[in-house]
Amino acid sequence: MTDGAEGTFDQALTNGLAAIVAHTWPGEEMKTVKGKRVVRSASELLKQVISERTNGTGRVPHAPDAPVTGEGTVQGPSDSRPYTEVDIEGLGAAVAATQVIRHARDTGTDTDTVLTEEHLVALAALDSHPALGSLHWVQVDREWDRTEISDDAEIERAHRYYNALDEAEIERRVALDYSSEAFIAPDEPVHVEQCPVCGADALVAHGVDSMAAMVGVGHCWVCSYERSMRVADQMTVNALIERTMERDN
Ligand SMILES: [Zn+2]
Repeated sequence: MTDGAEGTFDQALTNGLAAIVAHTWPGEEMKTVKGKRVVRSASELLKQVISERTNGTGRVPHAPDAPVTGEGTVQGPSDSRPYTEVDIEGLGAAVAATQVIRHARDTGTDTDTVLTEEHLVALAALDSHPALGSLHWVQVDREWDRTEISDDAEIERAHRYYNALDEAEIERRVALDYSSEAFIAPDEPVHVEQCPVCGADALVAHGVDSMAAMVGVGHCWVCSYERSMRVADQMTVNALIERTMERDN
């Protein structure tokens, strides 16, 4: 079994929180289990360390071991604040959502639970802490890199297929209306998107990404390009992170 986007989200969140805690309260990111030192889970870091250390405000000081002052009255733009506000409740809900999604997949049951834009924004907001910075920590993930590599190979394969088609056949395919060509039933909606490989409005998506239902998953009926769930999830995260950064600027 492989982890999908929610596994990536969990990993990014755990890494981010552990780095913040290690910077601010060295050693508290770890715990001892059967004589071994291990990194605490995201939910432990949120509830047992950050919440307790900040009196529930989630405001983690940027200076190591700086005292946490009550409600915190510091004003000003977010980058000049001496703390990073960790959305304890929002990130806790995101962790719970990833568990629901994973459990549903493991047991083959359906769930409407998805990671939302708010969850991803709460994750991206950790970036203002000096222990992290510039969002690379979210994307630096081996699963992520592998996704990109396998999509590159798929794009190349679809290119080769497309180039092997004769021009008349390409014209015939491009001229079709895929929202009716690919229609199955009224309760099975089809989204047709522009194909990133051949540019035709022919990427027939019978599903959408599992994170925010923004990007279609399916096949291009002109060039055969296949966009996987994982690639769609990655595109969604990248788009949301970009949007978050634009909003902060
Ligand atoms: Zn295509």
